[in-house]
Amino acid sequence: MTARILDGKALAERMRADIAAKIATLPYRPGLAVVIVGDNPASAVYVRNKERAARESGIAARTIALPATTAESALLALIAELNADPATDGILVQLPLPAHIHAQRVIEAIDPAKDVDGFHPINAGYLVLGLPALVPCTPRGVMRLLAEAGTRLAGARAAVLGRSAIVGRPVAALLTAADATVTLLHSRTRDIAAECRRAEIVIAAVGRAEMVRGDWIAPGAVVIDVGINRGADGKLRGDVAFAECAAKASAITKVPGGVGPMTIAYLLENTLEAAARRRVAAMG
Ligand code: NDP
Repeated sequence: MTARILDGKALAERMRADIAAKIATLPYRPGLAVVIVGDNPASAVYVRNKERAARESGIAARTIALPATTAESALLALIAELNADPATDGILVQLPLPAHIHAQRVIEAIDPAKDVDGFHPINAGYLVLGLPALVPCTPRGVMRLLAEAGTRLAGARAAVLGRSAIVGRPVAALLTAADATVTLLHSRTRDIAAECRRAEIVIAAVGRAEMVRGDWIAPGAVVIDVGINRGADGKLRGDVAFAECAAKASAITKVPGGVGPMTIAYLLENTLEAAARRRVAAMG
């Protein structure tokens, strides 16, 4: 079997064009504030891409760059200002933060209605309960790619590799809400290959280059690779050994060009949704 390649780049471009068209019809411009602390080079690239994508779609986006020495109290004061600013619909604090700042404290300081990353415990809780929430961008991208593949989710056996708060857990919650039977795998799982082999859907988010091998994949499974791992050669690799798994799967994503661009598209979508909901809420 040769897998169909799920082109996240092309899909994200279509989504971004749709979002821009939608924003052009609005009587207001959604506002996004992206906060970065310190000079992590990968974070700087992510933030630049997010701001550019947001501007291109018509979102009033601005990046607030703070030095690595910024005190936690100063960052919390900035978040309070952004929470109170009516022109700011979405607030994103780029992770990781410098070690002297408690990331969780900062995440919890963001107004849940402006939490376009969907990391606030209120949004995470709503998601687990199956209630409307701002849902993390990468997991939304994963679900959209599964839809694009025409994957039947109800009753399907899904293996999610990785249980982080930003990818694995929310993906598992979304798949559960879509009636899949989900197994969440992690570093303490006894036989991860055997668990994967039983799955019709495999989502890899472990941060280990090419960990998922071809003989882990059931014939015809759909494989979504969230991993971004930069090798010593400077090349990006996913968590999935692409050629081996593509030989077994019915559909598969590539790295780069799969989940990554979808994450940015859903940041724009979340900003649009936050802006719309805040206006509905303001009307009482
Ligand atoms: P984390 O490091 O927060 O979590 C990794 C998870 O994988 C943990 O649950 C960990 O288990 C599990 N794990 C690690 N090693 C193994 C192993 N050998 N066997 C089984 N499970 C293992 O990573 P993230 O969730 O933040 O990110 C995962 C990957 O996705 C990374 O490559 C990251 O760069 C990428 N990513 C991509 C995004 C995109 O836009 N495409 C966005 C976000 C992340 P345990 O809990 O037991 O420690």
